Amino acid sequence: MTNKLISIAFEKHNHNECLKKAMDLAEEYCSDHRLNLTPIRRKVLEILLQEHRAIGAYTILEQLRKAGYSSQPPVAYRALDFLVEHRFAHKIERLNAFVACALPGDSHCDNHSPAFMICRQCDTVAETRSVSPDFDISKIAQSTGFKIEQTVIEAEGLCNSCAEIEKL
Ligand SMILES: [Zn+2]
Ligand SMILES: [Zn+2]
Ligand SMILES: [Zn+2]
Repeated sequence: MTNKLISIAFEKHNHNECLKKAMDLAEEYCSDHRLNLTPIRRKVLEILLQEHRAIGAYTILEQLRKAGYSSQPPVAYRALDFLVEHRFAHKIERLNAFVACALPGDSHCDNHSPAFMICRQCDTVAETRSVSPDFDISKIAQSTGFKIEQTVIEAEGLCNSCAEIEKL
């Protein structure tokens, strides 16, 4: 059973375009900001972009090895740190895994505070913005003098496709 077609909004879409757009934006951002998108950083991002799923560090290492990168784990971890630091990827704490940012055009705004919907069955992760007019935690925080450094919302459940399968 493959869930490759389920993605951002748990919907079918042209994922090649999705992947290419994200890579292009990452390259553009790195050259604009004089960041070095080294081959290994690039490869790790590519691995993360293959599917809209959270991938554990161990799987990433395995895929790097298969792709001919015989790097030591610290090199891969540093590449992941770089991608997370520059918001090309996010860490899903609940799964202790990583996911490529699904809103690359949005991810470098000051208030990129993603919310994740995580399917507990297929690990598909959909990313949305957590800021809504009704609930803006940054405003609430401001009024209390709290300085938010990072907001991460993780919701766990069943995606549409997995829910359909469960009904059978
Ligand atoms: Zn996609
Ligand atoms: Zn994001
Ligand atoms: Zn699912």
